[in-house]
Amino acid sequence: MILPIIKYPNKILRKKTRQVSFPLSPTVKKLIKDMGDTVKKAEGIGLAAPQVGHDLAIIVVDLETMGVPPFVLINPEVVKFSKKKTDMEEGCLSIPKVFGIVPRPEDIVFKGYNILGKEITAAADGMLAKVLQHEIDHINGILIIDKIKKYTQGQELITAK
Ligand SMILES: [Zn+2]
Repeated sequence: MILPIIKYPNKILRKKTRQVSFPLSPTVKKLIKDMGDTVKKAEGIGLAAPQVGHDLAIIVVDLETMGVPPFVLINPEVVKFSKKKTDMEEGCLSIPKVFGIVPRPEDIVFKGYNILGKEITAAADGMLAKVLQHEIDHINGILIIDKIKKYTQGQELITAK
């Protein structure tokens, strides 16, 4: 089911989310499935639960076009950031038509849980590291407008499509 995407300045986007406990309730399982459908339909590369109106620590990442199968991460966090930061142009499904250059650490180690409650710890770099940081920011009520150092027209994103 496609869910409506909550737009800025809705307050839920600024709320700190709640941790999810296991085993997942049927409601949470359905939410995760719907988040996967929604990010695909919106042609996004990631989506966090607050963006569909739930204050829960759940993100989905869909970089299938770049060869990374879509996955969900529950109670996600970044446990290690590289000192080196790189710039990338970012947009956000919740802040339509706003794009800008966001500097973020280039490499991270992240942690979270899959739908079975199994802990996942892995390293990420490149686009995956950026998307994970963007989505984990959502879990903590942080938006790209807090981090953009230069607003752009969305050129790079448009040409990347
Ligand atoms: Zn976003």
